[in-house]
Amino acid sequence: MGSCLEQDVWERKYHLALERMERDERDFRALEEGLRRLALRLAVLARGQDGELDGLLDHLATELRHVPSLTTLEPLLDALARAVTVADDPPPAAGDSDAASIDGLRADIARLQELLAVVSLRLGDMTRYLAIELERTGLDDREGRALDATVREEMLALGETTLAAADLGSLQAEVAARLSLIDRHFREYREREDARLAAYRDRAERMRDRVQELENQATSLQDSLRREHELALTDGLTSLPNRLAYERRVAEVEREVRERGGTACLGAFDIDHFKSINDTYGHGAGDAVLRIVGQTLARELEGRAFVARYGGEEFVVVFAGMDAGAAGEVARELCATVEKLAFHASSRPVTVTMSGGITRFGSDDTAAAAFDRADRALYAAKRAGRNRCVLI
Ligand code: GH3
Ligand code: MG
Ligand code: MG
Repeated sequence: MGSCLEQDVWERKYHLALERMERDERDFRALEEGLRRLALRLAVLARGQDGELDGLLDHLATELRHVPSLTTLEPLLDALARAVTVADDPPPAAGDSDAASIDGLRADIARLQELLAVVSLRLGDMTRYLAIELERTGLDDREGRALDATVREEMLALGETTLAAADLGSLQAEVAARLSLIDRHFREYREREDARLAAYRDRAERMRDRVQELENQATSLQDSLRREHELALTDGLTSLPNRLAYERRVAEVEREVRERGGTACLGAFDIDHFKSINDTYGHGAGDAVLRIVGQTLARELEGRAFVARYGGEEFVVVFAGMDAGAAGEVARELCATVEKLAFHASSRPVTVTMSGGITRFGSDDTAAAAFDRADRALYAAKRAGRNRCVLI
């Protein structure tokens, strides 16, 4: 996958380079054409200075009308150079006006060269900028391509202008006008690009904010779901797991015992004569007893067994991985601990006791059947005098 991507990148680079080479070649041809026309124009402008020079200029003009070869041009240019040197140094009879016109011609050529240097500098800058822009924005930058085409058109028009201008002054004015037109195209293009970039940045920032907002929402939704889930499995009064939580836990243990032959016991515990606590000290005192007994069971069993409030003043304990002997021992400890709790109601000590029924989980047992047996054992403990545990 990485190499595929790399190949794409190289292909893109290759196409860009190819395009740039083609563009350079076109530019070169345009420049060559421009120079040819310019030389033609100069040949026409320079006429009338000297007889021999005129002949050579005529020859040069004829050659320049079609694409000349270097072998034709070289001797011609040498002859031209010699003729210009001779014309440069005119005989005294030639008079001041000829010398002045040659000086004027030289000055014109110098100004023209200056102008052309400025034009090619500006065009070079623009072409480089465009090439960078196109590479930066990719091949599908329609605006950049349109601008590229416009600049090329303007360059061609510049060539036409060079030919059509009647004198150097109007040529300069035309070239300046064309340059400012190209400048304007560029300025507008850059402004549009800047605006587009700003809009992209703005949109990206808004999207980032929105993603952050959604992430926050998702996190708080997860938190509240977790809280809801915990609440759904927690008893509001004692903060112990509730009956639903017990049913989930006991189903896991049932599977564990049946499928993997694990050992487990179930215990049902019920506070003795709880109704009389309510009746004697009020419902509030009864609630306090439920909370304290519940927290005591949780603390005593932490890391050893699972305890839940099953309902009313009844608690259920799942002794996973514990055989009946160990579970019975823990159950008796629990009852002894509850008996020792020092309750006070209306400033009087109140003794609270608890009875329990324990049963072993069989390999083909169900959670409901085990619970029924534990409940029967619990009532056996009640019948036997309470504050005790019975194992069935
Ligand atoms: P036994 O020793 O046979 O278990 O007698 P008991 O009085 O504990 O049992 P009984 O079933 O007669 O009474 C249970 C009482 O528990 C009745 C009910 O009003 C009370 N009770 C159930 N839930 C709550 C509770 O959340 N808070 C309070 N304060 N009382 C409750
Ligand atoms: Mg009771
Ligand atoms: Mg009860």
